[in-house]
Amino acid sequence: MKFSIKLVLSTMIVLALALGFSGFYFVNYVFETSLDRDVGQALDESSILSFAFETAALNVPLKYSVLPDSVVEEIASKLEMGGQSGGRLLRIADEEKNVLYTSDGFTADEGLLPQTDQHTKSYRVIHVQDDDQDNYYIHTCVSINALDRILYLETMKSVTEVFTERALGFSLYRKVTVVMLLTGMVIMLFIASLLTKPIRLLTKATKRMAAGDYTYRARQISQDELGQLTRDFNRMANALEDNICKLEEEIEAREEFMGAFAHELKTPLTAIIGYADMLRSHKMDEEKSIMSANYIYTEGKRLEAMSFRLLDIIVAKQEEADLQETSVGELFEYLREMFAEKKGIDIRFAHEEAMVWVETNLIKTVLVNLIDNACKASEINGVIEVTGQAVENGYRIAVKDYGIGIPEAEQHKIVKAFYMVDKSRARSKNGAGLGLALCSEILKIHHSELQIDSKVGEGSCFSFVLPVENRGTYEE
Ligand code: ADP
Repeated sequence: MKFSIKLVLSTMIVLALALGFSGFYFVNYVFETSLDRDVGQALDESSILSFAFETAALNVPLKYSVLPDSVVEEIASKLEMGGQSGGRLLRIADEEKNVLYTSDGFTADEGLLPQTDQHTKSYRVIHVQDDDQDNYYIHTCVSINALDRILYLETMKSVTEVFTERALGFSLYRKVTVVMLLTGMVIMLFIASLLTKPIRLLTKATKRMAAGDYTYRARQISQDELGQLTRDFNRMANALEDNICKLEEEIEAREEFMGAFAHELKTPLTAIIGYADMLRSHKMDEEKSIMSANYIYTEGKRLEAMSFRLLDIIVAKQEEADLQETSVGELFEYLREMFAEKKGIDIRFAHEEAMVWVETNLIKTVLVNLIDNACKASEINGVIEVTGQAVENGYRIAVKDYGIGIPEAEQHKIVKAFYMVDKSRARSKNGAGLGLALCSEILKIHHSELQIDSKVGEGSCFSFVLPVENRGTYEE
């Protein structure tokens, strides 16, 4: 069942109970007040009748010492005639509760007589069914003291009208309740539809997102708890969309990697298989055999180097950095020694002394890779500057060359595995497009990243900033 329908139904139940109880209480209150008033009147009337009877008995001739039954009947019939519209209904009984006189239509039983004595008045409300009609009466009983005789006077006063009014009141109230419930239901349906609109909008958004539309957001139309829920839902949807984007990018990168990896394997493998086939199926002279074996060896070496690099990348990706405080001077000393033998390139080192938090071996790998790349990109006798200086947020190391440079459109791609700007040039220099990918993974675990500033024909500057204080473990 829909939430709005539940809301309407529960409101209707509360409304029906409230209207029912209040209506019943109100109509019943009016009824009881009217009945109490009529009971009072009936008791007053019977007292007056009893007094009138006693007065009439005083006028009886003195020859009777006790009031005779015939006189009782005579007075009773006179009193009966005195009533309004059609006379009174009364019954008179003697001391032994034997009935002496009964009006026509006095249908009440003698149930009140035993309850009444000389000093009490009694009454009850009775229901009499005449010709399929429900009639209600107040039946009273009082004593009369006339000429040393104790008599009992019973009267019946009709209160059918009060009961009819109560029935009418109930029937009217039922109709009013039904009309009010129907009107209330229409109004409540409208209100419930307004109140549940944010829920409907949220449901729509959930369905759209479940169907794959991650950009869809629920419209916020209120500032209450449901508005807050919509805001939180949209925030959750944003986070979900970001994560899905990241996942998609990762999958794309993985596919790209697999494609590039397969491609990079294909070239050396084709060469190796080709030359090996030539060696086994043709009788070649010694010079050609040595040349073929040489090709197989160099391509095999290239494959080996590639697999080592890939392993390094995988290790760097999974590694948790164990950063140690290291002197920059020590790093530069290592590089100076490493490239001391390099012929035909002028590598200049300059640094400000400082302590950095790094994993020394990994940072050395980064710097060697960058200087290697700079050498490959430079002309004979080219200059390479390796500098280190303290900056605002750490310590910046830069490797600058004045070589071929990198086109702007390629700059963001070269950190991807197997990406080479000029494939044949890179391969001829034993490159596989993995060096910068490895550098970028290593820098990630140092909370840093590679910055590339390059212009075709003018040279490139690769730089990164190292932490000067321990910032803990890197978590991706
Ligand atoms: P490789 O093993 O080919 O050097 P890298 O990942 O280190 O792989 O570099 C990727 C590509 O980026 C290189 O093939 C080269 O085309 C380009 N590159 C890297 N460093 C430089 C540089 N200093 N100057 C010009 N091009 C560069």
